[in-house]
Amino acid sequence: MSRNAESTAFRSALEVIRAVEPRVADAIGAELTDQRESLKLIASENYASPATLLAMGNWFSDKYAEGTVGRRFYAGCQNVDTVEALAAEHARELFGAAHAYVQPHSGIDANLVAFWAVLADRVESPALKKAQVRQVNDLSEADWFALRRELGNQRMLGMSLDAGGHLTHGFRPNISGKMFDQRSYGTDPTTGLIDYDRVAEAAREFKPLILVGGYSAYPRKVNFRILREIADSVGATFMVDMAHFAGLVAGKVFTGDFDPVPHAHIVTTTTHKSLRGPRGGMVLCQPELADQVDRGCPMVLGGPLPHVMAAKAVALAEARRPDFADYAQRIVDNAQALAEGLLSRGATLVTGGTDNHLVLIDVSGYGLTGRQAEQALLDSGIVTNRNSVPQDPNGAWYTSGIRIGTPALTTRGLGTAEMDQTAELIHTVLTQTTAGANADGTPSKAKYTLDAGLADKVARQATDLLATYPLYPGVDLS
Ligand code: PLP
Repeated sequence: MSRNAESTAFRSALEVIRAVEPRVADAIGAELTDQRESLKLIASENYASPATLLAMGNWFSDKYAEGTVGRRFYAGCQNVDTVEALAAEHARELFGAAHAYVQPHSGIDANLVAFWAVLADRVESPALKKAQVRQVNDLSEADWFALRRELGNQRMLGMSLDAGGHLTHGFRPNISGKMFDQRSYGTDPTTGLIDYDRVAEAAREFKPLILVGGYSAYPRKVNFRILREIADSVGATFMVDMAHFAGLVAGKVFTGDFDPVPHAHIVTTTTHKSLRGPRGGMVLCQPELADQVDRGCPMVLGGPLPHVMAAKAVALAEARRPDFADYAQRIVDNAQALAEGLLSRGATLVTGGTDNHLVLIDVSGYGLTGRQAEQALLDSGIVTNRNSVPQDPNGAWYTSGIRIGTPALTTRGLGTAEMDQTAELIHTVLTQTTAGANADGTPSKAKYTLDAGLADKVARQATDLLATYPLYPGVDLS
């Protein structure tokens, strides 16, 4: 791809936008500058390719396409059919999935589609009812349904928020918390790791309809084979939300017991995190759930976004190339180098390290809350987000943790040596930041002091670190 073509494409697009609303064109240009200049360590963000970005900015946005490929409620969807079918085919091939539904607009939407598919299936499909009952082979069909009635039939067991679970796994601020009676499994207080015996015990006691695996802030591999066995032992549907680590599954860093696709009945994901695609969601499932999943729109989704499905097809095609596996491995190598760099400088990490794309620093060791640390790092040109740590005394707003991830910096080309330098910058900022006090002298969870000169110096060092690895090197807007 010629660099000229990318520059011409984006420059021309901005020229056309500028003629209508110059402030939008300016904001788009400014966003590129900001992203180029900041050390982005947000574990859930990435940089999509120019081809993926360009696939979204076109007239596919103008189409309504409710329904599925070849079965639309609107005429004239032949080209939408092409891109939706391509995206689904790439997804099936990439992940080895029996079925892929690429319409969800986001990860939350993908989870809603999955929940409703499971609920509807349990209610509607006699075949699956029988299959489910066979899995709990010590129950007769009559026993099984009596039990379900007794249970109220809508229970979800997922990872607790402070151990790294996601809001959509049955927590109050999300509708899943209203749809399901939720119970969560945490992590071992000593190791910080999932204790599968405890999960099995919770499943036996609680008898969930859905056992959810997956996380937003757990820095370790998860054994999905064991979780499936636990789900089967209580007749639960096993769902995995791989939003964060889909890129590591796609790149075959997570295989065997650690690949959720062969083990789960249903898998949901976002497409924009480690998978490096457009903002969006996707559901993969076993054949018996396919019909229900395909009813996502209009069950819980508005009309599909054909321009985003086109971009998903492009990004998934990219992820099927051999170099994506190399990228995925470098994400993990970088996260481990970052963890090592922090540990060697005295930081405390949840679980003592990482084997995926993210690292969770317990900043209480620096005498800070997550909120203070997040802001001090931001002042210094380092973009992260605060996050709870297990049994967090500061709650979900102030927190005691900082979550950092390597998918974005790895896309730029930074390697393990730069991760060590990044660890040095983070450690410098955190050691030089002091927690502040409220007007009445009590300790503040938000106020802090950091010498402005030091913050500027670190920001300059961060920019220097990035200078060798330009973001979107083919795009020159000047
Ligand atoms: N699931 C997990 C595990 C996530 O981490 C997130 C987002 O951070 C989501 C779902 C929701 O994704 P979205 O923001 O695209 O709705």
